Amino acid sequence: MNKPDAAVEDPIVARVVHKSVVVDQAGTGRVVKLMLNLTPQGRSFAAGSDVAFLAPGYAMDSSTIAAGLRRYTVESVGAVPFEDSIDVTIFVRDHDPVNGVGMAHHLIDLAKGDTVAVYGPFAYPFYPPMGSRSNMVLIGAGCGMVPFRWLAHKVQARKLDWMGKVLMLEGPQTGLEHLYLNDPDQDQDQYFDTATYRAFEALKTRYSATALDRRESTVANMDALWRLMGQGSVFVYLAGYRAVAEAMDEAMARHLRLPGRWQEARSALVKAGHWLEFLYD
Ligand SMILES: Cc1cc2nc3c(=O)[nH]c(=O)nc-3n(C[C@H](O)[C@H](O)[C@H](O)COP(=O)(O)OP(=O)(O)OC[C@H]3O[C@@H](n4cnc5c(N)ncnc54)[C@H](O)[C@@H]3O)c2cc1C
Repeated sequence: MNKPDAAVEDPIVARVVHKSVVVDQAGTGRVVKLMLNLTPQGRSFAAGSDVAFLAPGYAMDSSTIAAGLRRYTVESVGAVPFEDSIDVTIFVRDHDPVNGVGMAHHLIDLAKGDTVAVYGPFAYPFYPPMGSRSNMVLIGAGCGMVPFRWLAHKVQARKLDWMGKVLMLEGPQTGLEHLYLNDPDQDQDQYFDTATYRAFEALKTRYSATALDRRESTVANMDALWRLMGQGSVFVYLAGYRAVAEAMDEAMARHLRLPGRWQEARSALVKAGHWLEFLYD
């Protein structure tokens, strides 16, 4: 077991040994594959765990460091023959190639030979429901669907047709503005790679496209979310920025009008282990 404090406070310096562009389409941010060579120092890096990097502008101070850590899911890990080092591969999507100032942009700008401080590894925060009959809601609060990439891969790896309903929502204000359909045109700005595209396709069910019976709007998305939360076994996955998640809570509480109803339903799911979230400050 890794000591969480060591993972957060003592980064390991890694060197970029390979960099290639996986996706470079007009009108959308690039996706880059980075292979980082590092000495694991007794920590166990594995595919599907997360590593983190300290975003530009955040202090190396242990009291504030966690707020600036950005997570990236490890795609694969390879041992380097005759050495005690390993190669850790991650994929990074540049969500804002024009004004890029954040961690994604910084990682994409790295060149072969550059070094970067790696924090972690950390456990991936999301696990799929047992079986394939539960309903699932994925909410990207200001960060798109990328945090759920590995969750989709995990579900796909089980080779089961998903029988439950799946609702995927994302958006910059409340995380509920846009119904995500993995559509090659409409959702092109979220495209990651072929494997991820297929994993999200496998997760989609007939319900995903017909969740809304009228034109998409945040209100219709909120109704769809609330309906699904009231139907049988449901797992809600929430990732993104804390402020956006708080705006979602406020929007849902306002939408339902009855005081406390949203918090009650949310708390019941948390208590049952059916509400899984990972939020940045
Ligand atoms: C569990 C987990 C796993 C993740 N795995 C990966 C991974 O494998 N690869 C990867 O590239 N990213 C991954 N992410 C997302 C990553 O951690 C960062 O959130 C992302 O790179 C943005 O960080 P930033 O510092 O560049 O942007 P920030 O400076 O944090 O954000 C700047 C602005 O951009 C907006 N923004 C951020 N992300 C998006 C987006 N996707 N679409 C639209 N607007 C956005 C924010 O709302 C904010 O307004 C993962 C996140 C989680 C929680």
